[in-house]
Amino acid sequence: MSRVQLAPGVRIRREAFGAVAYVPDRDHFFALSGTAAEAVLGGCAETGTADVSTMADLAGRGIVDTDPPTDRRPHFGESLVGPFAELPAVAEPLVVNCFATAHCPLRCRYCHADDLMTPYRAGEADDETRDVLRTAAAVPALVAVVTGGEPLARPARTEVLVTGLAADGKAVVLDTSGVGDLAPLVPVLRRHGVHVRVSLDSPDARANDRFRPINRRYLPLGTSPWAHAVQALDVAHASGVPVSVQTVVTSSNEDAGSLLAMRDWLVGRGVRHWVLHVVVPVARAAERRNRRLRTSPYVMPALAELVKKTADDGVPMNIRVTGTHRAPNSVLLIGSRGDLYVERESGGKVRIAGPGDPRDSVLRAFRTHVNLVEHGSRYLNGSIQPFPHER
Ligand code: SF4
Repeated sequence: MSRVQLAPGVRIRREAFGAVAYVPDRDHFFALSGTAAEAVLGGCAETGTADVSTMADLAGRGIVDTDPPTDRRPHFGESLVGPFAELPAVAEPLVVNCFATAHCPLRCRYCHADDLMTPYRAGEADDETRDVLRTAAAVPALVAVVTGGEPLARPARTEVLVTGLAADGKAVVLDTSGVGDLAPLVPVLRRHGVHVRVSLDSPDARANDRFRPINRRYLPLGTSPWAHAVQALDVAHASGVPVSVQTVVTSSNEDAGSLLAMRDWLVGRGVRHWVLHVVVPVARAAERRNRRLRTSPYVMPALAELVKKTADDGVPMNIRVTGTHRAPNSVLLIGSRGDLYVERESGGKVRIAGPGDPRDSVLRAFRTHVNLVEHGSRYLNGSIQPFPHER
């Protein structure tokens, strides 16, 4: 191994515990300590100044490129590289979510963003994206997720956001149900190295569409969100855009049989990155009629077992789990008009900043209102990570 450099698009930030690295191909954060942190913070200097096995490990995870090349390997959702006595907390945000629009053609029964969509749809104006970008520029996150609402429902706004967020230096992720047409956005997604995350809850179309029903105001009867999601996956694969699937875990799919069936179906379709979100009882999921979607108290051990079994069996799937139901106040959301919100621990979302607010006051608001440990945990697989961690 004669030369080592950061892999294309990888973002690095110094942290008190060492460093954090974001790998866009995998849409995954790694927390690095010890020699791994020193290696990336030192600019991946010539081998000899850093441990060769550390560099090979970083290369396998997609953080660095080596010459000669090192094969990439699945990381099975592991997010910590080096010794950690406990889950590391970050001082600045890792991710900020940015609404492309308040419109969405679906009415998912667990939608956590309903309260930032329905009241903001009337009179939605295209120049609002400027305010979303102004607020995002004041949030020192490594990654911006373009979400909504459905970004494919307003592709022009989505293109403006992707371009502006990338110009600001952030890695960009596009969250989509797939309902709409992803293909026209492919050139801008490729230009900016965007990772696409497609929402899908089941390999079975009827089961999926039962929880992700259409909104008849936007779509004709008979439209299948499942079919659209599968089509979006196919478009992403065919065009070389890196893609993940994200699944909301509810009482209907938390059992081992359902999770393994979904995993194997995804692997069969060429998906290598899977994010599982335990349903969060806020917004629409908090409504009485949707209470039975809530998971059992055993859901986190079941998901940890899924990840362990996947690694033990060598199934090539990287799995990240979020347990935001334990701390809803761990996510930053910029609404479609540019205001920055955090979900309260109970009682809905609170506006903590807006367009034109300076970076230091936005950072202060982040540290005041966001559960910093759970924010890190959400993106570092903390909810299923055993401690102390020594590898
Ligand atoms: S696709 Fe997303 S934004 Fe739309 S209803 Fe479903 S969860 Fe909510």
